Amino acid sequence: MATATSTVQVCRNFIQGRWVESSSSRTSERRNPANLDEVIGLAPLSTREETRQAVAAALAAFPKWRDTPAPVRGRVISKAALLMEEQKDDLALLMTREEGKALKDALGEVQKSINILEFMAGESRRIGGETVPSELPKNFAYTLKQPLGVVGAITPWNFPISIPVWKIAPALVAGNTVVFKPATLTPFTGAKVVEIFERAGVPAGVLNMVAGSGGEVGDELLQHPDVRAVSFTGSTEVGSELYAQGARRMKKCQCEMGGKNPLVILADADLPLAVESAVFGAFASTGQRCTATSRVVIEEAVADRFVEMLVERARKLRVGNGLEPGIDVGPAVDEAQMKTDLRYIEIGKKEGKLLLGGGRLSGGAYDRGYFVAPTIFDHVASGSSIAQDEIFGPVLSVIRVKNFEEALRVANSVRYGLSSSLYTNDAAKIFEFIDRIETGITHVNSPTVGGEAQLPFGGMKGTGVGLREMGRVAIDFYTELKTVYIDYTGGKRDSNIY
Ligand code: NAP
Repeated sequence: MATATSTVQVCRNFIQGRWVESSSSRTSERRNPANLDEVIGLAPLSTREETRQAVAAALAAFPKWRDTPAPVRGRVISKAALLMEEQKDDLALLMTREEGKALKDALGEVQKSINILEFMAGESRRIGGETVPSELPKNFAYTLKQPLGVVGAITPWNFPISIPVWKIAPALVAGNTVVFKPATLTPFTGAKVVEIFERAGVPAGVLNMVAGSGGEVGDELLQHPDVRAVSFTGSTEVGSELYAQGARRMKKCQCEMGGKNPLVILADADLPLAVESAVFGAFASTGQRCTATSRVVIEEAVADRFVEMLVERARKLRVGNGLEPGIDVGPAVDEAQMKTDLRYIEIGKKEGKLLLGGGRLSGGAYDRGYFVAPTIFDHVASGSSIAQDEIFGPVLSVIRVKNFEEALRVANSVRYGLSSSLYTNDAAKIFEFIDRIETGITHVNSPTVGGEAQLPFGGMKGTGVGLREMGRVAIDFYTELKTVYIDYTGGKRDSNIY
C-alpha cells in the first residue's frame, strides 16, 4: 500500500498489521522503464531497526498462528486467491508499469500466482508425515511436519508477484510467520501482494513487509537470530554469499538463482515449432526470466534453415511499452540491466555472427525508455562468454553442433542448471536427454520457460541450493520434520534394541 504526497506515491512498510511510513529519510525513486517520464513512486530504503521491528512482530505472532489449524490457515490462502482473481487486471497493469513486462506476460504471471494460491490452500489439508511399522511390538512410529518460526523471504524484481506468492503462501500454510523483502525495483507490486493477504484475513504480525536494500534489510534478515530460515531468489552472486552466511549461522536457507537455459534442436525436429519456442523463450518478458532460452544448441544439418526462419520470425516481434496492445517485448527493467545487455551485445559481436538486433532502440517513444532490440548471434562457441554468462536480456546465442552427444555436452557445459528443452521425435534420445541433462526442470517439445503450481520448481549446480519451491515439496523447506516413537507395551525396552 502507498500514501500519496501531493505528487508522488510513497510505498509504506507493513509491520504488525499496520501500513507504516519508514523512518528512513533515504528513498529510491521508481519510474516506468518504458516511459521514464512516469514516476511510479518512492520506496523507502528502510533501516535495520525497522527490519528488527518486523521480525519482533513476526515472532510475537508465531505461537497463535502455529496453533491455528492448518486447514483454517489454508482458508485465508483461498480467500487471497479469490481477491487476486478480482484484482487481476489492476495487478497486471501495475506490474507492467513498475517492471516493464508486456501486459500479456503480466496477466500470465498473475494467473500463475492465483494457481499457486489455490494449490497451496489445498495443501493445508495434506501437510502430513508418514506412518511406518516399528521394529518393536506395540510401538507406533510416525513423522510430523512442524513450522519453523519466523522466516525471511527475499525476492527479485523479475516476477514481482508470483515469486513472493510462491514463498509466502507455503510458509503461511505451514504455520510460519514471515518478513518479506521485495526487490528495490518492484516494491509497489510487492506491497499489493501483501495487501491481498491482509484483506484475506492474515492476522497482524503473521506477514510483514519491509522495503529496502538487500545489503541492509536483506542482510538483517540473515543476521537476525530470531529468523529461522531465509528463502531467497535472485542472482547466483548474491545467493551463494547469502547461503554461506546462512550456513555460518545454522540458518535454513533456500537459494534459487541464475540460469543459462539451452533449447536443444535435433535434425528431425519440427522446425517451425522449435522456432516459435525459441522466440517465445528468448524474448518474452524481454528475456528477463530465470528460465529464458538463452542458448539454442542445434544440429548443424538443419541449422541454416532454422536460423533463417528464426530471424524472420523474431523480426516480427513488436518492442515497446507493454501497456500498448500487441506489444511482445518490453524494456529492460532499469538502466543497469540495459547496460549489461548492451555490454554483452558488444562482446557478442566479437564472439559470434550478429544476425538480428545488436543495440539499443532509439527514436520516438524508444528514447524515453530502456529498450534493447531482440538480438540473435549465430556461430557462437560454447565456451564464449555470451554462451556461458547469464545476461538476463533479449539476447539469444545459436551454437551449432555435430550430433546429439555434442549437443548434450554443450547443454551441460555451463555452471547453471535450471531449465532445458529438447526438440525431437526420437524416443530413445528423449529418454537419454532426460537422464543426462543437468537441469532441475526439462521440457520435451515445449519452451524452456514456465512451471506449474503443483510441480516442483528449481535448479541444480550453480542455480539452486536448498529444497525446491512450488509443488508439494515446497512445504518441506518451511517445516521441521519430527520423528515420534510411542511405546504402548507398558514394559521396559529390551536392551539389545537400538
Ligand atoms: P539480486 O540482485 O541477486 O537480488 C535478489 C534479491 O536479493 C533482491 O531483493 C535484492 O535486494 C536482495 N539482495 C541483494 N543483496 C543482498 C544481500 N547482500 N543480502 C540479502 N539480500 C540481498 O537478483 P535480481 O537482479 O533481483 O534478480 C535477477 C536474478 O534472479 C537473475 O539471476 C535470475 O536468474 C534470478 N532468478 C532466479 C529464479 C529461480 O527460481 N531460479 C527466478 C527468478 C529470478 P535489492 O533489490 O535491494 O538489490
